[in-house]
Amino acid sequence: MNEVPHLDFDIEAHGISRGHLIVPKGADCDPLALPIFSLNQGEGPRLLVTGGNHGNELEGPILARRLIKWLPEAQTCGRVIVLPVLNPLAVQAWSRNTPLDGLNLNRVFPGRADGSVTERIADAVSRVLLPMADTVFDLHSFGPTWYFPPAAVTHPIANPDLMARTVRMAEAFRLPVTLVWQHDDTAGMFDVTAQNQGKVFVCTEFGGGTVGADNLAIYEAGLRNALMALGLVEGKAEYPTFRHRSFGQTLETHPSDELKSPASGIFEPRCSVMDEVKEGDLIGILHPMDSLSSEDIDIRAPGTSTVLAISSGVHVDANTAVAFVARPLKVRQ
Ligand SMILES: [Zn+2]
Repeated sequence: MNEVPHLDFDIEAHGISRGHLIVPKGADCDPLALPIFSLNQGEGPRLLVTGGNHGNELEGPILARRLIKWLPEAQTCGRVIVLPVLNPLAVQAWSRNTPLDGLNLNRVFPGRADGSVTERIADAVSRVLLPMADTVFDLHSFGPTWYFPPAAVTHPIANPDLMARTVRMAEAFRLPVTLVWQHDDTAGMFDVTAQNQGKVFVCTEFGGGTVGADNLAIYEAGLRNALMALGLVEGKAEYPTFRHRSFGQTLETHPSDELKSPASGIFEPRCSVMDEVKEGDLIGILHPMDSLSSEDIDIRAPGTSTVLAISSGVHVDANTAVAFVARPLKVRQ
């Protein structure tokens, strides 16, 4: 029981190495061995790329494996460590949280060595991998019941220098949206632990319900752009085409930009992500299903804004988020 989290290979070796991050066993399960790829080309940026933080967001693990394929021919300096699946138990179950302990990996960082399996994964990543990187990209997809544009996301960071560097790094993905997301539920996020260690951390999001070739191509182009900006690979960064346009906007969203369902029922979206709306424009309709005499309820834009995310048409409880709007980032560090 004295085993500590560790790597089962020499990650300092030059060139390509492969092995595992060993998460020690606990009372609830045997040790986990998370496959890791590392490419060490000497001096330069030190990047960690992770996927599969949430088990029902599978673009990230696919993209991480693509990266492992093209990186050996492209990377000219520095070290890139790729961990395609942070939480194999959740990925195997296509579940946001870990089925074994019910925990959301992205809310238990920095983890606990003597905790349940999700906490032990976070502990192993925080103590073994994070110190090896200066920059972290955590590849998410916002979950399967949302439309969400390809976006590089961060949260407000108290340290203004780290905030400025993080926003610049997020913008370097050249995805349609760079987002500074202010919300109250940041305790235990991977982001926060990495930022507390002084790392630049960018979380990418891309929702749409299904994993599709077009979306993956945009996501991959963004990741390649970011690696170019770091100087790890050569090439000319370009904005990928999304909905027939090539563009990038830097936006912010606050808790008050979250639109909630006024009652339980089926939510019908009436607009698309990246639509520009003004006060009173129709965002969607809530159809109560408990009685045929209940009127449909219009959900309207609170003000001039961009539709950032919209629920893809599901049955929701009352007071559940069905859309998020955003506005151009005002305060730049
Ligand atoms: Zn996620």
